[in-house]
Amino acid sequence: MLIQRTPDVYEKLSLLGSMAGDDVLAPAEQGRGSQTGRRPYSADKKHPIPGVYRAAMPNGKFINLMRVMFTDFCKMDCAYCPNSIYVPRKRHAFKVDELAKLFMELHQRHAVAGLFLSSGIAGDASKTTERLIHVVETLRHRYGFRGYVHMKVMPGAAHQYVEAAHRLGTRLSINVETPTPEMMRRIGPHKDLVNDILAPMGWIDQMTRAASAEGRAGAVGQVTQLVVGAADETDQDIFRRIDQLYTDWNLKRVYYSAFRPVRHIPLEEHPATPPMREHRLYQLDWLKRIYQFSNQELGLAFDQSGFLSLEQDPKTAIAIENLDAFPVDVNAASREQLLRVPGVGPTSAQRILDNRRQHKIDTWQDLQSMGVVRTRAWPFLVFPGQRPPSGKQLRMDLFGEEARLKHRQQVQQAAANVPYRPAGGPAPCGQAASCTGCSMYGMPGHPGSER
Ligand code: SF4
Repeated sequence: MLIQRTPDVYEKLSLLGSMAGDDVLAPAEQGRGSQTGRRPYSADKKHPIPGVYRAAMPNGKFINLMRVMFTDFCKMDCAYCPNSIYVPRKRHAFKVDELAKLFMELHQRHAVAGLFLSSGIAGDASKTTERLIHVVETLRHRYGFRGYVHMKVMPGAAHQYVEAAHRLGTRLSINVETPTPEMMRRIGPHKDLVNDILAPMGWIDQMTRAASAEGRAGAVGQVTQLVVGAADETDQDIFRRIDQLYTDWNLKRVYYSAFRPVRHIPLEEHPATPPMREHRLYQLDWLKRIYQFSNQELGLAFDQSGFLSLEQDPKTAIAIENLDAFPVDVNAASREQLLRVPGVGPTSAQRILDNRRQHKIDTWQDLQSMGVVRTRAWPFLVFPGQRPPSGKQLRMDLFGEEARLKHRQQVQQAAANVPYRPAGGPAPCGQAASCTGCSMYGMPGHPGSER
């Protein structure tokens, strides 16, 4: 006889915490070497309690965050999502009091300091958002919790629920998922990008501005996430959308999640997006937000098909297109000029400016001690004793025809959505559904290896 048992709250936390792991909106602590990992900005650091992980806060500090879904049931049929209605598996849900009590229990044991609360759309977007609001209301009003709460607003939620979420949450998010309404119609046929997602994002922006002008409490901002590669969009399509989000609604961050096929979803056979593509988009985003590159400069990073190079980071690609602006004199350049040198970041640029007030900078040791990456910066910097080749020479020697051909080949692969694989790796068969029985399973670049 089969006896069915209802999971207890810790089992639910384990199940619904692992499902929330697909959301990269709450950035986890980055470890060394993370740039080579699948999700460079969201690699989880193991914590003994399931559903709990170390997360970076907007102020740069790290706290233990409980990341959990209220329920993993979802009535929607998004073609890329492991929680969509297509996937036949047992679903679970918390009750409002149960989740609030569990969080406070862990908070009182100093196991967690904040909450990231998400959900599938169970029934109706407004109703689901209302349930999340009740959880946070219980935490704020019954238990007096004043800490960090990141709440997801369900696409299509009515204005009053978005307003309530704004009053209670520290940070809000609605996932944009894909750049254009037409792409959304293909991969999320029951979501309307303009009315269900972009309109509530506009409301959140207005509410945040009003709360800050009137000195009222409320969410301090919003973030969003895009699934990269599911809609066969180009990197330039993504850039146009994020430019609008940062410019119009002052988004705090945009997160990128490389598409991974899972069984039963309509895109099961669609190739996985190379993790490096996700990484390049983060680099481009960084150049826009932190380095303040203009859109015109950033446009130089894309190839003719609208993709970023997988081989070369966008900053180097832009520098190569702009070789006439180099080399830059370390002892005379402005902060903006230094920031355009590959291998020089905001911290090392500031250190150069501070140090050169005291003495002339004339050795690589000096520059390296300030954080400059010599292997990347050498063709672009000049100082007494160091004179790199001219721009014309560099074009021939360093970024010559061979490098360009290799780059073009990778761009074409990306355009065709063929998973990037190192030279000499096995060819993907394109049969992701039957991977486990295949002799190529687990080999680099094969679709099954990306699962
Ligand atoms: S609405 Fe969200 S949870 Fe539901 S299927 Fe779409 S992406 Fe997944």
